[in-house]
Amino acid sequence: MTHSSIHQKAEQVLVQTYPRPDIVFDHGTGSTLYDEAGKAYLDFGAGIAVNALGHSDSGWVEYVSSQAGKLAHVSNLFHTRPQIELAEKLVNSCFADRLFFVNSGSEANETAIKFARKWARENYSGEKTGLAACTHSFHGRTCGALSLTAKEKYRAPFEPLVPGVHFLEYNNIASIEQNINDNTCAVFVEPVQGEGGVYPADPAFLQALRKACDEHNALLVVDEVQCGLGRTGSLWAHQLYDIVPDMMTIAKPLAGGLPVGAALASEKVAGVIVPGDHGNTFAGGPLTCAAGLYTLERIADPDFLAAVTHKSKLLLDGLKKLSSAAIVETRGKGLLIGVELSFPVKPVLDLALENGLIVLSAGENVLRICPPLTITEEEISSGLSILEKTLKTITA
Ligand code: PLP
Repeated sequence: MTHSSIHQKAEQVLVQTYPRPDIVFDHGTGSTLYDEAGKAYLDFGAGIAVNALGHSDSGWVEYVSSQAGKLAHVSNLFHTRPQIELAEKLVNSCFADRLFFVNSGSEANETAIKFARKWARENYSGEKTGLAACTHSFHGRTCGALSLTAKEKYRAPFEPLVPGVHFLEYNNIASIEQNINDNTCAVFVEPVQGEGGVYPADPAFLQALRKACDEHNALLVVDEVQCGLGRTGSLWAHQLYDIVPDMMTIAKPLAGGLPVGAALASEKVAGVIVPGDHGNTFAGGPLTCAAGLYTLERIADPDFLAAVTHKSKLLLDGLKKLSSAAIVETRGKGLLIGVELSFPVKPVLDLALENGLIVLSAGENVLRICPPLTITEEEISSGLSILEKTLKTITA
């Protein structure tokens, strides 16, 4: 099949949910992707914050290949060693006592909704089913997760969604009390919002949310699908905020590019879930968990995390020095950075791509930069040069 026929065929055979550029990627190494014609693209998107170790990391390839040659799937009817080892490492890395494996961020949030509902039913009245999330939130596209996602455009075609969801204003402490009451069973929050525009939470806001959850006996669920696992320079983003959640949902980078996620919970929540309450055929298989073990071990290394913080500073400083009147604000934490422009970013994304740089959007006017956590200082500086050149052309 020729290059142009791939693009045409894609339009015929795929349900059209993503407008894709006319590029066919073939392979990648480190922070660089190559298309079929051999053109190189510096990757400031990491497959939407997934490829934390970059592409084709040699240690990861060796580990995953070895597990693939041994055992890939047995279902959750049986034990495998990689699953239990990864679960133990994850629960030991944070507040959680137990976890349930899933395959994606949306599934992790679906799981957390079910666990919260069951916890509330077992401990309080059947009326305690309310959920809360925040403005600009993104928790996924499946029906439960979508119910917690703020953007009207994503929700409207699929309503009615799960009822009883209140949206409180992100970073507005006053809005917490207006949207949480004794019938709330769980509040979902991203410590750093990704899709909604890259907004880091104020510490006082997350701490007030924790306090309100305690006062109303509601569970605090942190969604770290995008900001977790080293992305902020801390292993878990909420650990920067001096709060202890009741549940945490994770996915994207956990297996370095293979689909695995988890809903982690403290014992008070996990203890109410019994056989038959929830299930999943693929999740937590030995192949994805082996990939997770390797990825987690690399990222959890304090030197690795310190390097993320160092590179974040380089990137933020570099962005602040970019001489472009188009930039309204630069914000973010670690290597999850938003650059708000004074106009829609789509033409910038397209031209950057032509110039050999993959950069993402987070809403209409915000460029999102979330490279592999292994990106080098030289790659940061060449990405910044391409971005500067691109903005210059667009604003000329
Ligand atoms: N939660 C957050 C914070 C996300 O950023 C995303 C995806 O971007 C999701 C949940 C949904 O994850 P997935 O696309 O793997 O279902």
